[in-house]
Amino acid sequence: MFPFWKEEAGPLGGSSLAPYDHLISGPIRAKDFTGRAEENIWLYSDLPQEKRVCLLGLGARDKMTKESLRRAVGALGAACRDKKIRTMTFVLPKSDLLSDADIAGAVCEALFSVNYSFDSLLHDTIKTEPRVQLEAVQIVSENFESVHKALDRAEKIAEGCYLARDLINGNADDVTPEYLAHVAKSLAKEFPRVTTRVHDRKWIEKEGMGLFLAVAKGASHPPQFIICEYRGDPTSSDHTVIVGKGITFDTGGLNLKPVGGIETQKQDMSGAAAALGTIRAAALLNMPVNVTVVIAATENAIGPNAEKPGDVYSAASGKTVEITNTDAEGRLTLADALYWSTKNLKPTRMIDIATLTGSMVVALGHGYAGIMSTAGPLAEELIRAGEHTCERLWRFPLDEDYKEELKSDIADIKNCGSREGGAILAGIFLREFVGTTPWAHIDIAGTAYLKDAKKYLPKNGVGFGVRLFVEFLEKLEKSA
Ligand code: ZN
Ligand code: ZN
Repeated sequence: MFPFWKEEAGPLGGSSLAPYDHLISGPIRAKDFTGRAEENIWLYSDLPQEKRVCLLGLGARDKMTKESLRRAVGALGAACRDKKIRTMTFVLPKSDLLSDADIAGAVCEALFSVNYSFDSLLHDTIKTEPRVQLEAVQIVSENFESVHKALDRAEKIAEGCYLARDLINGNADDVTPEYLAHVAKSLAKEFPRVTTRVHDRKWIEKEGMGLFLAVAKGASHPPQFIICEYRGDPTSSDHTVIVGKGITFDTGGLNLKPVGGIETQKQDMSGAAAALGTIRAAALLNMPVNVTVVIAATENAIGPNAEKPGDVYSAASGKTVEITNTDAEGRLTLADALYWSTKNLKPTRMIDIATLTGSMVVALGHGYAGIMSTAGPLAEELIRAGEHTCERLWRFPLDEDYKEELKSDIADIKNCGSREGGAILAGIFLREFVGTTPWAHIDIAGTAYLKDAKKYLPKNGVGFGVRLFVEFLEKLEKSA
């Protein structure tokens, strides 16, 4: 595979790749290949080294970013899959805008991402058309050491993303609260720096988590409160808590979701999946940071015991909540998890990640996730990290005025207001439970799950948040 900048005659900006020059020059002269972003053409050689040669367009040299590279490589990865290619040699481009390590990192990130597939539920299709994936990629670069390091990092982060994707894509009847607990326990078995505690319904009752229990009332799978802690720097008291929404299936409860909204609800634990994927990546990378993941995992099911709209339940904090809509369940589980975390884990900062509101999808589509925060610098750091990984975040307001909407006549607050500004109202609700801990809320309802593959991202579970959190934690590590 040879990379080309747009409108530049040779690969890597003019340098010769002698044995291939005769092969490459034809399509360039005929302008069949111009090097525009994501363009790729395939040539066939009788040289013994390579059966095929791919020319990959990177777009304009002075516009290159990590993301433009990822996208070009995503197009290449998709083409490799179509052609059932197992091995490839990739000549790394060079640029003044990015270091060799950054270039190698972006290339490998995209290759790992596009090389993922979830086939375990396919039977006949996979028999007639077995999936072939890239098994080995040889990277050609002059800068062995930094490139090697970047590859290693990309591979470990990809393992975290793969874990998240597998959890999201698995059947809701397989990926139950107990299964999420099992995965968290497996992480503790695999990594000495990870400790996992899982609590059952009795403990949840003892902690007074009335909102979490209200959501779990209709479910046949028992709720699990999961605490998965990675201690990469025992000498430091700096401590990030990530609370992941872990609704393993969201029927909407008695406010049942309609056709068109319910079929993808196995993905309502994407926040929990991203959080566990982050622990896996952090542990593989041996990051010198402390992160604890907290998940109040349950189904939001429907049945004779399901919580009733109009009823009032008490949060672990003591606050009473009128349930005006049982489909606004994520914030109930998060509220008790956030409150418990501030009280018991003494976090330096707390971030929740959740497929929380349809309003967020209406507001931002699938290009950005929304962020709300009580702490400017925390929000800025997360947004910055998201720019690096292209898991982009857009900040929403949390002004006090919005709280008016959540006023209840019969309880301290209600869980759901009008549809207008619904994503913000969810944030306003959560803020009631975080005390003075610097906190950010990330709503990934539009970015966690894709109906169609997009550039280097696969369809279905994306693993949105894993790369972002690793990037964020690395910055913490540097500033410590
Ligand atoms: Zn819901
Ligand atoms: Zn939900």
